Amino acid sequence: MRTYGHFIAGAEVPGATLFEDRNPSTDAIYALAARGDAAVAEQAVAAAQAGFRAWSALPPAARERALLAAADLIEAEGERLVDILIDESGSTITKARAEVAYSASLMRTAAGEARRLYGDTFPNDRPHRLSLVVREPLGVVAAISPFNAPLSLLVKMVAFALAAGNAVIAKPSEETPAIAVELAHLLHRAGLPPGTFNVVTGYGPEVGMALVTSPGVQGIAFTGSTATGIAIAQAAAQGMKRLQLELGGKNPLLVLRDVDVAEAAAVAAVGAFFHAGQICMSGARVIVEQPIARALAEALAAKARSLHLGDLRDPRTAYGPLINDRSLAKVERHVAEAVAAGAEVLAGGRVHHGRVYEATVLWEPPRACAAWCEETFGPVTAVVAAADLEEAIALANDSAYGLSAGILTNDLQRGLAAARRLRCGAVHLGMHSFQSDALAPVGGVGLSGVGRSGGKYSVEHFTELKWISVELGETPRPF
Ligand code: NAD
Repeated sequence: MRTYGHFIAGAEVPGATLFEDRNPSTDAIYALAARGDAAVAEQAVAAAQAGFRAWSALPPAARERALLAAADLIEAEGERLVDILIDESGSTITKARAEVAYSASLMRTAAGEARRLYGDTFPNDRPHRLSLVVREPLGVVAAISPFNAPLSLLVKMVAFALAAGNAVIAKPSEETPAIAVELAHLLHRAGLPPGTFNVVTGYGPEVGMALVTSPGVQGIAFTGSTATGIAIAQAAAQGMKRLQLELGGKNPLLVLRDVDVAEAAAVAAVGAFFHAGQICMSGARVIVEQPIARALAEALAAKARSLHLGDLRDPRTAYGPLINDRSLAKVERHVAEAVAAGAEVLAGGRVHHGRVYEATVLWEPPRACAAWCEETFGPVTAVVAAADLEEAIALANDSAYGLSAGILTNDLQRGLAAARRLRCGAVHLGMHSFQSDALAPVGGVGLSGVGRSGGKYSVEHFTELKWISVELGETPRPF
């Protein structure tokens, strides 16, 4: 069993105290990790300030080269990273491989952005003034990440922040510290100067919040739950820090009346049950236009019952365990409440084995139920009928969240018209709500967060604009 330290200034730093990193499938201890605190956070900030001076002084081509090398190393070490993702975070082999491939793709996309920190000039009424608008890195960025896609979601924040010339301190989920320290080793091998990328591990309130409030941290990128996002936003406001928040969702899938029911149910199943529904964009609310609503729900239930829930290294396995007992208890509570309130369980509704919960389809839970309006983050989806498209859109928008949505229809005009009226950050036509693309602006509205990440949108977030004016003629003087 490996004991991981923090990764600060180009090397692992042993933790004064440790915590257990458990395998969610077996509950066995997978690794021991360093338990950081405010003092460790400040050590990392000092290292990152030095790293920032070195990294931001490099020409863009050098930053690009290092990030491309990091992408190559992620691929070269891919199967080892896949093993860690399976054992540390409960991913299936399919999900873990996809995550590794996406992480390499994010690194390459970000590498290209290192050369595209475009600025502006603009005309001025004063004939001899030249105005320049330049983009500059923020400085030190803290990237606080969740457990559910612990490599790619961290890489998404880190790669673009680095491309823009920032130094980064990552604080991974306490459920998944190992993969973040492994990433630090790869970035170090790729040629990043010491201190450019650091990792501190441990618990959010102890070391994450210390980074958020540190005067040496200029930017914060956070991906995680809405409750934590609100706490971070409140604390970050004291220092007026640049903030990006990618939070939870309760994403709708609209199924319009013209679709093939079996095909739509198969798409809905992937959207709802991929990674046991532990995906911010998972399709937890399926809103079906009459007259096909009940038939769709039953086809989705049949699909749910057919899913293989076995060994995570078996490619047939659909998904694995919930991350911990707290998550499992939340799923059980949401289902029990919905059933008590009158929802019908068409499939699932109980534990399969260990922390693996059966793929669950609820029919018509009352709208006040947690299973309808709160994030469950488990393999549970609720199907409701809508009389027509108007009602489907109203039901979809009746949520405090607004991350993403899917629409299944063969009628492009109806689908596109609906897409424009949904209140969320992304709408996927012909697909479920869970899509990713390294260039796309991903983010939410309402309780799903603020800001957009991906491609040039991330670079905009991780840079500050500066106006520089130059008087080329005689300096005008009012007195
Ligand atoms: P979480 O909020 O419990 O933890 C996320 C991170 O925040 C962890 O690193 C944790 O240690 C840290 N943290 C916790 N309390 C903190 C505090 N007081 N100060 C600073 N840091 C703190 O989330 P989770 O359970 O790991 O992840 C699941 C959640 O993430 C879900 O709500 C999911 O929807 C969301 N998520 C959103 C996106 C997106 O792109 N919008 C993507 C993935 C996950």
